[in-house]
Amino acid sequence: MKASLNFFTNFELRKILKKESKIMDRIYLDNAATTPLSEEVIDAMVDVMKTNYGNPSSTHSLGQEAKILIENVRRQVADYLHVTPAEIIFTSCGTESNNMIIKSCVNHLGVERIITSPMEHKCVAETVLDMKKRRGVEVVYLRPDQKGDFDLIQLEEIIKSSDKKTLVTLMHANNEIGNLLDLKKVAEMCKANKVLFHSDTVQSMAHMEMDFSQIPLDFASCSAHKFHGPKGSGFAFIRKASGLKVIITGGPQERSLRAGTENVCGIVGLGKALEISLNNMDQYSSHIKEIKKYTKERLLSEVDGVKFNGRSAEEETSLYTVLSVLLPFKDPMIGLKLDMKGIAVSQGSACSSGATKPSMVMMMILDEDEIENCTPLRISFSHLTTKEEIDTLVDALQEIAVSFNIEKTNVEHR
Ligand code: PLP
Repeated sequence: MKASLNFFTNFELRKILKKESKIMDRIYLDNAATTPLSEEVIDAMVDVMKTNYGNPSSTHSLGQEAKILIENVRRQVADYLHVTPAEIIFTSCGTESNNMIIKSCVNHLGVERIITSPMEHKCVAETVLDMKKRRGVEVVYLRPDQKGDFDLIQLEEIIKSSDKKTLVTLMHANNEIGNLLDLKKVAEMCKANKVLFHSDTVQSMAHMEMDFSQIPLDFASCSAHKFHGPKGSGFAFIRKASGLKVIITGGPQERSLRAGTENVCGIVGLGKALEISLNNMDQYSSHIKEIKKYTKERLLSEVDGVKFNGRSAEEETSLYTVLSVLLPFKDPMIGLKLDMKGIAVSQGSACSSGATKPSMVMMMILDEDEIENCTPLRISFSHLTTKEEIDTLVDALQEIAVSFNIEKTNVEHR
């Protein structure tokens, strides 16, 4: 077979890995990083790729059919959020949505001050820093307590402390520890004080009900691959008459707010994934909550000294898909060790999991002793996760924990 030097298909890759026995039954517990595509989403996308290849901007019927598909999903998203379709702008991902909103707030709405937190995802944190460096925006950080929560009275004091045009950007569900922000309370506070409010809702969209007719926030973001949709497809919610303007210039697509030929099959995939999530929300969430409870109980009984970070072990105040664990030993190689056993988890968020130093979120909520001597691990679930998979994970962690105790005893005896 003549193999290409720089491109091989997934099929070829799997053949190579199989030869080297690198493929085993995998246990996927990193659903906050991304989720597997559901079969129905794949089918819907393949169908669009095969038949609806028209450009949605074309006036002929092939183009107009593609346009109808997009507008259907826009209406579906708008219904979910209880907003109007005109307030939904399709983008390539959560990162793009957050960039677009924050940058346009500064560039077009005259925002001079941003209130944010050190717990934000990099795509918000780095964009805010960029606006500070390049546009001289003042940045004020709201510090979390050891549980990862914010003092909302302090937030209001900070808001009131300046007359500068202000944007508050605080995420809804933290991607590392799952803490949930009281969106309604913060949105109402921002509205009452006449400041703009953006929330990175990437981790919570499609996992819970969202009624933006009752939550007066200005901007929010979404990424389809966090709920079994495709990568490269997301949207920004932009409240009507906000005045936000285009960042990617070109054609008049997406109501002239985001130029570029639309990713029709990606948008359809997002719509299908959202439909499945919403139709099964009760069933999925109760299954995942049960799995999370089971994981907590098994870890507490099998791994001596294990703790849970932030609010992630609490049902009401954390996102049910995320459990952030603190293991009572230091093992920077733990992700690799689990991977070698076929278990995929994360040592932080996916974006920083290559790094060995603790993430900013962990630096904020752990004390020095915990940073020095413990290992954080993020376990994130989906409706596909089973108790048997959790048993395998807990057994593996217990084995690693025991090996640490033995090593420690050996060192002490030397
Ligand atoms: N915001 C949060 C909270 C996330 O967890 C992620 C992805 O991990 C993003 C934004 C970025 O989303 P995307 O991967 O679609 O760019």
